[in-house]
Amino acid sequence: MRKKIIAGNWKMNKTIGEGIALVEELKPLVAGAANVDVVVCPPFTALYAVSQAAKGSNIAVGGQGVFWKKSGAYTSSVAPGMLVDAGAQYAIIGHSETRGRFGVAEPDFTPEILAIFGESNATVNLKTIAAIENGLLPIVCVGETLAERKDGNTDAVVAEHVTLALKNVSAADVAGKVIFAYEPVWAIGTGEVCAADEADRVCGVVRSTVASLYDAATAEAVRIQYGGSMKPDNAVELLSKPNIDGGLIGGASLKAADFAGIVNAAS
Ligand code: PEP
Repeated sequence: MRKKIIAGNWKMNKTIGEGIALVEELKPLVAGAANVDVVVCPPFTALYAVSQAAKGSNIAVGGQGVFWKKSGAYTSSVAPGMLVDAGAQYAIIGHSETRGRFGVAEPDFTPEILAIFGESNATVNLKTIAAIENGLLPIVCVGETLAERKDGNTDAVVAEHVTLALKNVSAADVAGKVIFAYEPVWAIGTGEVCAADEADRVCGVVRSTVASLYDAATAEAVRIQYGGSMKPDNAVELLSKPNIDGGLIGGASLKAADFAGIVNAAS
């Protein structure tokens, strides 16, 4: 049995004070969910304070991103060891917003501007390896854009994301440490949810890709979240599907009651 994992991606929201308040509100609401891994991913500025506030509870903390180098002249970047030092146990890697693939139209985000986020399958792979080497559990995001889905390329895109993220990662690390999040880009922050059967099918593509790269046991062990407009009222159906082992939650993770509703649906 794979343990369910519900992670909240706060994105560029919450000051230090707001983050502490959110986690304090969340603590009693999710305290009974002992059979679920509960994770919140605040912005870097609030990470240490939130991890301190979460101490002694069943809420773990993750970074929303990570760089692959240990230290050096990499202005604006955060090293894996720094995340650990600040109290993180997880790191989100390859989110569509860092890959420059946005579900919501942003008029000022031209292709040139999107390119500065600089995330590629190659950097996702380096970050995944660096996270594992430094004791962080990587949450690796994969998923197709609307155009890729319309062109019938969903499975190929997802399989490619998975394959390239796992280059030089051992079977033991995939089975025990890597978490995938299947996030169809068109469902992120749009209110449009992927139908549960289809989300399950594509999570199955992630799993069968892992099986073809490694073996059936590794594929059975790897945890795969669904992400994209998950809310308390659609979480039960999504989380009941055999290939969906949890959720990566954006908007609904910013309100304690909504996030707790999803955690308790998984519980
Ligand atoms: C996300 O950003 O990973 C996400 C799934 O966002 P939302 O839940 O708001 O669609």
